[in-house]
Amino acid sequence: MENQLFVTNSLTREKELFKPINHPYVGMYVCGPTVSGESHLGHSRPYVTFDVIYRYLSHLGYKVRYVRNITDAGHFEEEGREATDKVNEKAKLERLEPMELVQKYTNLFHDMMDMLNCERPAIEPTATGHIVEQIDMIQEIMKKGYAYEKNGSVYFDVTKYAKGGDYGKLSGRVIEEMIAGSRDLDGQDEKNHPADFALWKNAPPEHIMRWNSPWGSGFPGWHIECSAMATKYLGAPFDIHGGGMDLMFPHHESEIAQSHVACGCMPVKYWLHNNMITINGRKMGKSYNNTITLREMFFGGHELLERPYPAMTVRFFILQTQYRSTLDFSNEALQAAEKGLQRLLNAYDSINKIKAADQSTADLKAIHQNCLNAMNDDFNTAIVIAQLFELTRIVNSSAVGTESLTASDIAAAREIFDTFLFGILGIKKEEKNNSGDMEGLMDLILDIRAQAKSNKDFATSDKIRDELGKLGISIKDGKDGATWSK
Ligand code: ZN
Repeated sequence: MENQLFVTNSLTREKELFKPINHPYVGMYVCGPTVSGESHLGHSRPYVTFDVIYRYLSHLGYKVRYVRNITDAGHFEEEGREATDKVNEKAKLERLEPMELVQKYTNLFHDMMDMLNCERPAIEPTATGHIVEQIDMIQEIMKKGYAYEKNGSVYFDVTKYAKGGDYGKLSGRVIEEMIAGSRDLDGQDEKNHPADFALWKNAPPEHIMRWNSPWGSGFPGWHIECSAMATKYLGAPFDIHGGGMDLMFPHHESEIAQSHVACGCMPVKYWLHNNMITINGRKMGKSYNNTITLREMFFGGHELLERPYPAMTVRFFILQTQYRSTLDFSNEALQAAEKGLQRLLNAYDSINKIKAADQSTADLKAIHQNCLNAMNDDFNTAIVIAQLFELTRIVNSSAVGTESLTASDIAAAREIFDTFLFGILGIKKEEKNNSGDMEGLMDLILDIRAQAKSNKDFATSDKIRDELGKLGISIKDGKDGATWSK
């Protein structure tokens, strides 16, 4: 049937017809950032992906409650023997109050999301704001006999839950495999079983972030916050849970186990996962020095980047690939995406120049329908973009008279761009005079000026400074070269 939405459900590994539990309402939860540091390029993909999914569901008329959390406590650093809280550790390192650190990186995260034109979720709950709900849920799990306390910490009893047959469904892992893969983490000796995970951790005396609980002073485990907050704001079960594929295990598998026990039902109808980003064919990781932050991406400063790239180029580049496929970043690919996007934006501007004909030589209704069909087929933005390029070809040909469009088709061309490129794909219209280009241009001008100076051609270097001054751009010479400001 036409205009039905199909989504790939990671839980069943099948493309399923999307039918919300409580039509026309849709509850969608997406795992948000851990705000102990800056968001990097890898984080841009889930947020852009689920922003497009959110926009498309809204376009279809669903009333979506979009919840995306902020992890400001409880995310353990898994390296080394001690399980430590990431926020707690970084706060010590930066000599900040933990909440000061959390605020700093939350603000930065919001700025980066605004640049990427990701709409703010309806609710953005924080882990520290929901300690009570997490303690309640842990107590519920204990009451049902699936968690136990040891020395002020509480662990989920994975072996007992696994007997029901639902553990490992999402990630496809079996317990033996999980034990083999489990590292020597803190608390391993106090767990009944190596596959068990912490719901609550007893806080050592030097731990700043701590809350009172029935088990003494401590802090929550990482997985429990998402279960507690999703249940609070979306109920159980709810429609869509999203995140990157890297979160399927252990995070989402643990979420399912906790919520299943606490709420008595499988908590989520559709699990959607985006694939990962690689850089020049390599996974992102500290050892490759290829963890590019979003700030470096947009403003420069990472050695792998030839220059900064506008946020809309990054967004467009991400959407050129369907979200379940891998995506490889490189300077060449980004520059090609930048040119491609510019071509679409130029075509949109030149729609005004088309003179209406009596008959159309192109079928714009088909293009509109193809875009819808692509979105209905598990949000295939890659095909939508291919269709927008086809529309661009038609518009450009019509502007020079090799194709013709009627007045209503000219309006339809504009509408396709408005609906799909700007509305659903979320590209900002005003991106043409972007700051990224300005940065690149100024770098070039300052390079030329530095060269002139080193050739003792002061007439040219002074002329560049004076002429820029007239444009309101001032140049400051310093030890490490010149800088500019507007
Ligand atoms: Zn989560």
